[in-house]
Amino acid sequence: MLKKCIAISTLLYVSSFCSSVLAQDTPSENTILFTNVDVFDGVNDELIRKTNVLVTGNKITSISTENLSNNMTRVIDGSGHTLMPGIIEGHSHLALSGVTFSDVLMGLPGYQSIQSAVMAEDMLMNGVTSTRDMSGEVFSLKRAIDEGSVMGPRIYASGAMISQTSGHADFRAFNQKNPMLGGAVPVTDMTGNSLLVDGVPKMLAAVREQLRLGASQIKLAVGGSVSGPVDPLDTTQFTLEEIQAATTAAKNWGTYVTVHGYTSDAVNQAIDGGIKVVEHGQLLDRKTLRRMEKEGIWLSIQPFTECSSPNLTPAQNEKEAMVCKGTGGVYEEIKKLSKLKVVHGTDIFISPGKGIGVSKQVEQMERLLNWFTPYEILKMSTGNGGELLKLSGPRNPYPGDLGVVKNGALADLLLVKGNPLQDLSAITKRENLKIIMKDGVIYKDTIEQ
Ligand SMILES: [Zn+2]
Repeated sequence: MLKKCIAISTLLYVSSFCSSVLAQDTPSENTILFTNVDVFDGVNDELIRKTNVLVTGNKITSISTENLSNNMTRVIDGSGHTLMPGIIEGHSHLALSGVTFSDVLMGLPGYQSIQSAVMAEDMLMNGVTSTRDMSGEVFSLKRAIDEGSVMGPRIYASGAMISQTSGHADFRAFNQKNPMLGGAVPVTDMTGNSLLVDGVPKMLAAVREQLRLGASQIKLAVGGSVSGPVDPLDTTQFTLEEIQAATTAAKNWGTYVTVHGYTSDAVNQAIDGGIKVVEHGQLLDRKTLRRMEKEGIWLSIQPFTECSSPNLTPAQNEKEAMVCKGTGGVYEEIKKLSKLKVVHGTDIFISPGKGIGVSKQVEQMERLLNWFTPYEILKMSTGNGGELLKLSGPRNPYPGDLGVVKNGALADLLLVKGNPLQDLSAITKRENLKIIMKDGVIYKDTIEQ
């Protein structure tokens, strides 16, 4: 902890907690008490009023209205504030954020890594303490964050998104020969951001390769995409046998497969093949959503309501418009399916320029107010997210409860001004985020005492 704190103190957000930590011999004895806070626990729609929450080391060890303030490392008066779980981002691409498409296609892994570190710090300052990363080489970034060299959320890495020839991640130049037919390895495969495979043996190798690198879960592209240069949106990608091979290899390793898919055809084949989570789903019909609810398949969905982006080609924009049209209808269906497991994610990628990606993160959460209450939005981003992270089973890099405020949970906490269940700006406006804590360490501290 001593080492970690020194590393953190070299960065911009020096916490006053750091100096307290340095005074301690054993980090497990660090105790931080939040007093008089209202608690949103990540699950229930009512705040627990005027209570005290004790953090010991990296865990929440007591939630009580009794006076606990003896011999604490620090006591924080949280009157007028809400203590809530850190936000769980359902779908990020840290390695592909803060860069342009041509950076990715040219293969600038060093630049991508540096930009991803900037994005990770920015994301943490948005209150995001964990993220499911849905493709991109983030293993190095994750290690640097976990070691305390740079700031960022906990990363649940998928590694390379696995795609078929002509699928979502086939970013080769048009006349570049297929690697499986004697062509050179595509740049995006070399940099670990995606992997092009056809057939069961290659699928098995691709999945096992990501697991070897430390993936928490496996990501396949099983249907048409917006950003893919050559795949029509209506296509179903991979065969049932290829998908079954992937899910078997992941299951044998103790984890699961999640899939990029918009359409019902693509998603139903993937569910038949044993996948557990669908990323996107903006074009799913009611029958498929009901099937997902019945079979306990998770939906990780994003508010794609921008129907035309300047960064895309006319063909890609046409596909984006179709996805955009479907978004509202699927959110309305979700509202009717009380048992469907849903998390909110943003899918921010290709967002060159500091701060652009993270501002989109906030904007997207606010966009959800068109369909959901602040409670529903926050539950999708905390309690539900924490439940989904556990699907990685023994491959979960951060075992323990996340996304909830309860005894024994990991101490990823936000102290925000006001009541976020009444006014979402308590979490979406940075100035209202007074304390950001991850794993018991405070990374932002602007509380006035
Ligand atoms: Zn994505």
